[in-house]
Amino acid sequence: MTERWAWAEIDLGAVARNVVRMRAAAQPAGVWAVVKADGYGHGALRVARAAQAAGATGLCVALVQEGVALRRAGVGGPILVLSEQPPEQLDEAVEHDLALTVYSATAVEAANQAAQRRTKVGYPVHLKVDTGMHRVGCHPADAAGLIERIEASPGLALAGVATHLAVADEPDDPYTGQQLATFATVRRSVPAGVLVHAANSAGALAHPAARHDVVRVGIALYGISPGPGVGPWVSDLEPVLSLRAKVSHRQRRAAGDRISYGLRHTFGRDTTVATLPIGYADGVPRRLSSTGGVVLIGGRRRPIVGVVTMDQLMVDLGDDEVAIGDEAVLIGRQGDEEIRAAEWAERLGTIGYEIVCGISARVPRRYRE
Ligand SMILES: *Cc1c(COP(=O)(O)O)cnc(C)c1O
Repeated sequence: MTERWAWAEIDLGAVARNVVRMRAAAQPAGVWAVVKADGYGHGALRVARAAQAAGATGLCVALVQEGVALRRAGVGGPILVLSEQPPEQLDEAVEHDLALTVYSATAVEAANQAAQRRTKVGYPVHLKVDTGMHRVGCHPADAAGLIERIEASPGLALAGVATHLAVADEPDDPYTGQQLATFATVRRSVPAGVLVHAANSAGALAHPAARHDVVRVGIALYGISPGPGVGPWVSDLEPVLSLRAKVSHRQRRAAGDRISYGLRHTFGRDTTVATLPIGYADGVPRRLSSTGGVVLIGGRRRPIVGVVTMDQLMVDLGDDEVAIGDEAVLIGRQGDEEIRAAEWAERLGTIGYEIVCGISARVPRRYRE
């Protein structure tokens, strides 16, 4: 089947260049590419392969299912599941050689049993320590005991000790230093040869003391800033995703006409309106129209008019010419203009992560090598 007139273009060359930049920033620490949530909406498999080819030495996922999908597609190398998983999924995780994260005695025992059921010895687990994010992880005081428990489990081997930073994207906040100081006390109980890791993208870029042995880089691979506070560190990262559509309808409207559900927009003058076949079911938030959202057509910024509907949205072109099939850019570059995911995020009171993760499965991804 030929594709619809709305698609996301994924520049795998940009992924590779972002990996190389992050390796240079983090070295001598290695880079593990975080490809959870289908590679932040970019396509986990293609991003994983591009990142590995560019020197990422490991991959991270949120779910067993995400890791299994990569293995089934033939992806090798370490794949780490970042949190404890439902016990009934551990056999599948072990079968597909996914390194497990643990932070409770129960999970250590469940992992050991799953490993032994598959006659594994020294199956890799990473201990996650909660140094202040307070999402998941063991209490720092319990880390040494859990390390002993892992080492006493015949099926398991301690492969890593990790923590996660809560405010790495706000480099002036002393909390990151406190988390790293707590992590330092835990590291005294970590045997040699075990990978120590703490940094997400912001940590890897803005906090040299967080880099340790490997950094877990997600958002920076996709060329999106972790937040405004790390602006100076991300200026050379390249956005990977652009969101595009072709004009599917054009019409002339008269001054005083109103448009879209609720008739919330009234035209102040006679104007040309283009319709794009993309809407909130594709991940273009309905609120984008009421928060000043624009799209690029003919290399210029054009306001979205009327509410974004499920499958379509409308754009005001003034007296400019437009033809059915002309390309519009919702996120990305056209001519000298650019709209970044961060611009949507700022309008909508969220972060770039949520924008790209929100581009739905209905939008085909087109890959450029
Ligand atoms: C998602 C995630 C990351 C990646 O964070 P970015 O800010 O996207 O770099 C790293 N570590 C853990 C534990 C995560 O959940």
